[in-house]
Parts: sequence; structure tokens; C-alpha cells
Amino acid sequence: MPVINRNTRNYPWGHERRFNDYSNYFRNIYGARVQKVSIDAGFTCPNRDGTKGTGGCTYCNNDAFNPSYCLPEKSITKQIEEGIEFHKWRYTEAVSYLAYFQAFSNTHAPLDKLKNIYEEALSYPGVIGLIIGTRPDCIDEEKLAYLKELSERCYIAVEYGIESCYNKTLLRINRGHSYEDAVWAVERTSALGINAGAHFIFGLPGETREEILSQVSVISKLPLKTIKFHQLQIFRGTAMEKEFQDRDDDFELFSLEEYLDFFVSFLEQLNPAFVVERFTGEAPPRFLAGEGWGKIRTDQIVSLIEKRLEELDTWQGKKYEEI
Ligand code: SF4
Repeated sequence: MPVINRNTRNYPWGHERRFNDYSNYFRNIYGARVQKVSIDAGFTCPNRDGTKGTGGCTYCNNDAFNPSYCLPEKSITKQIEEGIEFHKWRYTEAVSYLAYFQAFSNTHAPLDKLKNIYEEALSYPGVIGLIIGTRPDCIDEEKLAYLKELSERCYIAVEYGIESCYNKTLLRINRGHSYEDAVWAVERTSALGINAGAHFIFGLPGETREEILSQVSVISKLPLKTIKFHQLQIFRGTAMEKEFQDRDDDFELFSLEEYLDFFVSFLEQLNPAFVVERFTGEAPPRFLAGEGWGKIRTDQIVSLIEKRLEELDTWQGKKYEEI
């Protein structure tokens, strides 16, 4: 269990928030706010383009998350320029940027193509690094060796969509990779000194609450730097929407109240070394196949979770035990 200084309320991550949060992580490294700028570089995925399958993951609607300035028809440079403008009104103090390759699988291309894309982003003034969202089966030794080289001159993080530790779930949602693939990718990335991130979805069909919660001990063993969580949201026009209409008894979607309780339990068992970037996902209501959680914003949910941590006098990793 981490050592806590109860007088100053300083946690192992060096500040007073009750979880190891993402913005403070960058402040600690760079001494200032760092802003992510999303890019859609026109990639696809192996379970969409026929390499492994078609149709993609059953829940996927990338449009629900892609900012409006991200269009693959625009150059990388143009998207960064517009992304910086987009964020300026809200975050006036951001002076450094991370190019965030967000849409689809951003290592699913030959290395030469990847080099051109990444280098264009890194040549933009103020861009200090890359965050590359991808799948565990879209990385290999050659690409990792190049990313290791890059990571010696700028910030590099590879964020893997893992989604679940259960292969039965990964099969059902048509991921096209296994949990073992994810373990390999994360371990290899981290072993090379590259920041490894992961993304998980809570509430996938066929998983009980107990199964979802018990993933925490499995996830906590991964050599991750950052982690993101989303509650399952069902999007219009997806295969999952149809499945939900046909078999809604096999889905246990979280209400907001249930999620707050669940997430606090999960967080207090989570490895305190992981920097937690997101607790929930947020998508415009027009994409949702149901009511969702209404108009509550992500930052409001973070506040509610922090309030609950305070009330229960608990924190990330309070119940974590290294195995
Ligand atoms: S890998 Fe990601 S982008 Fe590709 S289909 Fe699945 S969720 Fe969508």
C-alpha cells in the first residue's frame, strides 16, 4: 500500500488529488500545461479493411469521438493548426502540444508511411511529442524500434485499445485480437522505454459486474504508464445497437450512480503508478442509441468521483497490493 502523508495529503504521485491524474503528470514533466491536438490521418483497422475481418468492433462509431476539425482530407499540418486554434479559447495557457493520432488504428500502415505522417506532426512548431492510438495487433518489432528512436528525442506514447481482459468478450465484440496480444504489445512497448497506454470499456455485453471489477488485478500487473476508461455507450447504426435491441437482457449498462460506486471501488484497487487520463467517455447525444446519462459533462463526473473519494476517505491504490 502506498505511503500517505496524512498531514499534507500528498499522495505517491506528488500532489493532493486523490488519483494520479493526467494533467498533473504533464505539468510535472514540462512545468506547464500540455494540450493534445487530435488528428485523423486516414487510417483504417484490420477488422474493418478485411485484413482480419470486416465491420469493425461492434460498438464502434469513430465519428462520435472525432473532433470536428479532424478530417483526413486535410493535411496533418492543417489539422494541427486548426486544432490549436480550436483549443486556444479554452486553454489560453497551453504552450506545448502533443499530436494525438486518435481515429482508427494509427500504426496500421507500412513503416515508411508512418514515418512521413509522424515526422510531419513533429515538425509543427510547439509539438513536443506524439500520442498514437492503435490496436495491440497493429504493432511489431520494426515499428517499435522506430518509435524507440523517436522517443529518445520527444515524448512518445502508444495507447492500445484493449477494452477487456476476457477473450470471450473480445471475440463477441469482433475485436480480432486476444488479451494475450495486448499483453505482448504493452510489455514489449514498455520494455523498450516507450510510454505504453491502454483503454478499457466497462459494461461490455456478457460481462457481470464482478467480472468487470475483477479485471483490476489483471490490469494492474501490466507495465502501463497511462490508462483510460469508458463506460459502454451504445451508438446508433452500430452492430451493437442491433444486438442490444435483440438481447438487452445480456447488457448491464451502468446508470451514473452505479458507475460512480463501481469506479471508486475499481480505482482504490488500481495500481497507483498508472496515470489515469479518463474515467468516462462523452459523446454528443445525437450519436447515442439511448438516453445515456443526460447532459452531464466529463469534468462534472470527475468532480463527483473526487467528491466520493473524499467522502469515503479513499484514493487510487488504497487497496492495491502488489502481487
Ligand atoms: S479498432 Fe478502434 S477504430 Fe477500429 S473498429 Fe475497433 S474501435 Fe473502431
